Amino acid sequence: MKNIVIAIDGTSASGKSTNSKIIARELGFVYVDTGAMYRTLAWYCLKNKVDVHDPKAVATLCRKWKTTLECVENHVRLAVAGYVPEKEIRTAEVSAAVPHIAAVPKVRDWMKAKQRECIRFGSLVMEGRDIGTNVFPETDFKFYLDANLDERSKRREAEGVVENLAARDQRDSQRASAPLMVALGAMVINNSGMTAEQTSGIILAEVKKRL
Ligand code: C5P
Repeated sequence: MKNIVIAIDGTSASGKSTNSKIIARELGFVYVDTGAMYRTLAWYCLKNKVDVHDPKAVATLCRKWKTTLECVENHVRLAVAGYVPEKEIRTAEVSAAVPHIAAVPKVRDWMKAKQRECIRFGSLVMEGRDIGTNVFPETDFKFYLDANLDERSKRREAEGVVENLAARDQRDSQRASAPLMVALGAMVINNSGMTAEQTSGIILAEVKKRL
């Protein structure tokens, strides 16, 4: 069978990571968190004192940074100079910086090429904002997750993160380059009040039906 891609896009804290991991485990697919890749660049900019509001400076850093894509236990990770930042990319500072660097067209081109490279690791469950619209628009497996803002904010708070999700979603939806939007043909799931088992169950049933 040819490697396939399940694209899971959606708003912040809509359950993309939790559900993508469940689906990848269930199907034996490789999980790719593209948000972590953007967060890694935002973290690297902050670490190197590059102004995240300066698109040229961000694009220059992105062209030069030394990265490797690796697949460990069916999870793809982006290493920078051999180091994979994890906790560091989940801070409030990185969350506030990331939509700015993610709006830079040259950054998006770089990310898209790297993300498409991941297919060499096997069939993928890839989560993000533009996977079904821009990174793998040719896939037949597109899903878009959302939930009401109150519930999404509570989910983040339960993880110990207080953040203005609405502001980040607005930036992600309004940028000119590959904005957050529902891909043509995507199945939209509003999972307010649903458990991860229920959400992933709907996606798995749909994927199995079409495989
Ligand atoms: O998924 P996560 O919340 O970690 O993503 C962090 C940020 O990375 C998003 O708010 C968005 O600005 C950017 N992003 C993106 N395109 C993707 C994945 C993430 O622009 N495919």
